[in-house]
Amino acid sequence: MTVSVTGATGFIGQKLVQRLHADNHTIHVLTRSRSKAEAIFPGRDFPRIVIAEEPKWKESIHCSNGVVNLAGMPISTRWTAEIKKEIKQSRLKVTSKVVEYIQSAPEEVRPSVLVSATAVGYYGTSETKVFDEQSPSGNDYLAEVCREWEATALRVNGNVRVALVRIGVVLGKDGGALAKMVPLFMMFAGGPLGSGQQWFSWIHVDDLVNLIYEALLNPSYTGVINGTAPNPVRLGELCRQLGEVMGRPSWLPVPDFALKAVLGEGACVVLDGQKVIPARAKELGFPFKYPYVKDALRAILS
Ligand code: NDP
Repeated sequence: MTVSVTGATGFIGQKLVQRLHADNHTIHVLTRSRSKAEAIFPGRDFPRIVIAEEPKWKESIHCSNGVVNLAGMPISTRWTAEIKKEIKQSRLKVTSKVVEYIQSAPEEVRPSVLVSATAVGYYGTSETKVFDEQSPSGNDYLAEVCREWEATALRVNGNVRVALVRIGVVLGKDGGALAKMVPLFMMFAGGPLGSGQQWFSWIHVDDLVNLIYEALLNPSYTGVINGTAPNPVRLGELCRQLGEVMGRPSWLPVPDFALKAVLGEGACVVLDGQKVIPARAKELGFPFKYPYVKDALRAILS
């Protein structure tokens, strides 16, 4: 199939594109920067990749069977009022464009599926509640961003199947939360981040990529699907496992201030978590390769 992907140059997007390419699909990388995309996906290695900058996104979407929407400004930065606005607007703007371009395609060439990213931040934070896809939204800033992001994607109509993947903290080798946490962990000899009681709803990047891939191809994948592993852990437990896998002691707590110094207000993503269960993925029989965090960390860090 032919798939257009926004955010294809990012941590998750790159892995998704590699997976699609390995399975002989054609990918349109919808990017803001052709030169950045060309450096990541050099033509000689990726002959079935088309790189599109605006105003070519529409053309790309009109010749695609499916669209994956991952773009958005990173949230793990120091939050100012300006940055918070940009975090939200970057997602709403790209998603609106994607919806507009899908809608404007003549019916016979319209993509049949939109897989759009959102995040477990939708649920707000709690140390005691368990959230699945039926749970209501929270009332903090990230919950608001996710609600608007999802509502924008759902504006698409005309027989287009929409899968909204509420992504947890993605663990992988070359980016995401671990890339920031591991150096901190090394520096402080490892240990719980903040109180350690917060829930950490994680997913191995390979499982997430497989879930998105499945959502593209399988018509049963529709509506909201939590992109999290079946066994979330408390942050203290994650750090204990991380210490064990890295062969580092894990008794010295990493204080809130150290994390906040690196992540700013965005540290709330790891300091205030939520326990999210992938009820829909389980119902759909999705085969998680890494249901347990220890195996995921071993695979990533060994
Ligand atoms: P990355 O930050 O690695 O990549 C996101 C991509 O979005 C970039 O490559 C860039 O593509 C595009 N982008 C960046 N800033 C902007 C902007 N201001 N306006 C428009 N586009 C922009 O993200 P991930 O791969 O980690 O995540 C993909 C999506 O999944 C994101 O939307 C993220 O919020 C969501 N998610 C990720 C989680 C994680 O743990 N990684 C957890 C929960 C949700 P280009 O420069 O080519 O245009």
